[in-house]
Amino acid sequence: MRPTAPSNSPKGEDLIAVPFMLSPLGGNEGGRSLRAVLFDMDGVLYDSMPSHAKAWHRAMADFGYDLPEQEAYMHEGRTGASTINIVSRRQRGIEESEERIQEIYKVKSAYFNEYPPAQPMPGALELLHKLKAQGLKILIVTGSGQLSLLDRLNHHFPDIFCRELMVTAYDVKRGKPDPEPYLMGLQKGGLRPEECIVVENAPLGVRAAKAAGIFTVAVNTGPLPDHALTDEGADALFPSMQAFSDAWESFSATLFR
Ligand code: CA
Repeated sequence: MRPTAPSNSPKGEDLIAVPFMLSPLGGNEGGRSLRAVLFDMDGVLYDSMPSHAKAWHRAMADFGYDLPEQEAYMHEGRTGASTINIVSRRQRGIEESEERIQEIYKVKSAYFNEYPPAQPMPGALELLHKLKAQGLKILIVTGSGQLSLLDRLNHHFPDIFCRELMVTAYDVKRGKPDPEPYLMGLQKGGLRPEECIVVENAPLGVRAAKAAGIFTVAVNTGPLPDHALTDEGADALFPSMQAFSDAWESFSATLFR
């Protein structure tokens, strides 16, 4: 756990001057320029987390495990295997076999698919249009491994995303909270960390992005308290994607030239 601001820079002062900014506003003296925005997907672009959390709870219960929905939000971003083993170690002192992990994950996916398809997060398309109009690169960095991911994104967010600028479960060895997915995003986009921002909704996603050295905007679209995100070092915090989109002009003017 890290503090979000040094003790000589009380969070309140920043909050009064710039309501969404949590970090001291240093580091842009040289006129940082923004080239790209890296988006997490579930809970940021899609309102899919309630169904994921319910599906996790039900699937784990089928196998004798207790994974409350609220806890599922704390594990968001981990690989399925990692989530399962955290619970199995805690409850039975064991790691599940690869075979059994596949089995549990299959049940979880089946429950998830029982729910209506997740809808785009309100405000997300509006924000993407603003970024695109500014000529910014837009990347997806997700732990999701659905094969039809790009088709679905293109359906809901036409002409925004491309295959070359996506990092999915198939691209990385280590999932979030490891920085690997975000580092790979930087690599795919030919980007340096200081040219980018990340948009994340999950504590472990914020941890991964910060470990990759990238300015991280947390949008608290779920049931967790704000401190679950700020404790991981989020640099800015918004209560929703709509609020972030509404504030985009003042936000980017504050941070970048
Ligand atoms: Ca997420």
